[in-house]
Amino acid sequence: MWSKFEKTVMIKRIIDEASIKRFKDIVDSVSHIVITCHKTADGDAMGSSLALCKVLRKMGKNATVIVPDQLPLSLSFMTKGFDYVTFSRNEVMAGNIIRNTQLIMSLDYNEMDRVGQSMKTLLVGAKVPKILIDHHLNPSKEFDVMISHPELSSTSELIYRLLDESGWLDYVDQQVASSLFIGIMTDTGNLSFSSSYPEVYHVMGKLMEYGIDKPYLYKMSMDTVPLNSLKLQSYALLNKMTIIDDSFALITLDKADLATYNYKTGDTERLVNKPLSVKNIHWSTFMREDPNCIKVSMRSEGDFAVDELCTRYFNGGGHMHAAAGEFYGSMQEAVELYYKIVEEVKNQNKQTI
Ligand code: 5GP
Ligand code: MN
Repeated sequence: MWSKFEKTVMIKRIIDEASIKRFKDIVDSVSHIVITCHKTADGDAMGSSLALCKVLRKMGKNATVIVPDQLPLSLSFMTKGFDYVTFSRNEVMAGNIIRNTQLIMSLDYNEMDRVGQSMKTLLVGAKVPKILIDHHLNPSKEFDVMISHPELSSTSELIYRLLDESGWLDYVDQQVASSLFIGIMTDTGNLSFSSSYPEVYHVMGKLMEYGIDKPYLYKMSMDTVPLNSLKLQSYALLNKMTIIDDSFALITLDKADLATYNYKTGDTERLVNKPLSVKNIHWSTFMREDPNCIKVSMRSEGDFAVDELCTRYFNGGGHMHAAAGEFYGSMQEAVELYYKIVEEVKNQNKQTI
């Protein structure tokens, strides 16, 4: 129906020309490229990585996506027919690929710590150019070329712009467009977050012109969960959520809870967002007892910034309204620290009233 409308919208150029030139020159000069994203990849990390990899392969490059650990099951529909390497499962093979590559690209993360220690050691040790393509604040100085745009909705949007500004849109096909569309959709909460300014809609419109199946992509990436995940999340909300002063929510899941519901990576995705649908709850925290640490995720609304809290207390970071980090200690200690932070937040609020 919409295809009869004219395709007139121009997307503004925002990446500086020197970075585009360096990016293209480096890609032109190599044949073997490794694309990496952060641990527990999400729709944006995987969408941007797959899309860029497919474009580079179409250009004749030997490009490989290496993800640090097992992908959430919810993303497996994206990777059908696409070969990629999972570092934690194939350390030897991944190590060989990294040792033989001529270029490393880091997508959707801002510091090497985000890929985990053993993969980080290999990436840092590789004496090849490293290009960062990312939308998180405060990129570290570990990269040779930085295409860092924290003002953008997603790395997938940035990849679209990078392809556009590099003159590479001819390599985009329906699969590439679908991957980027999923990345933007999932990182913007289907365009509901404040990070969705008008041009995001234009970029998504451009991607729709490649004939993507929007209802299918939405259903698969935003509205499909395994039954055990639905049960685990329901249990968490019913039995493991504490509300403080009617305005802050804390959910905790320990090892025993996770085992009871046969937890797999990705099963708690978006759980931390759920308390925010209650009026007056503007700050939500979720703590999960992982094998090596307590994973802490925070979400907020309005003026309340959670990235600073995650950086200061949980060795993490992220965005103003969606951030996360890790706590090294017991769940009880993590919860105690949380209550200290709550007291601090309440005192600060008192001072500003
Ligand atoms: P999530 O709660 O979905 O795991 O993560 C929310 C946001 O925080 C994402 O933007 C993600 O990139 C960022 N994030 C997640 N874990 C970490 C971490 O361990 N360190 C940092 N710096 N950021 C993280
Ligand atoms: Mn992202």
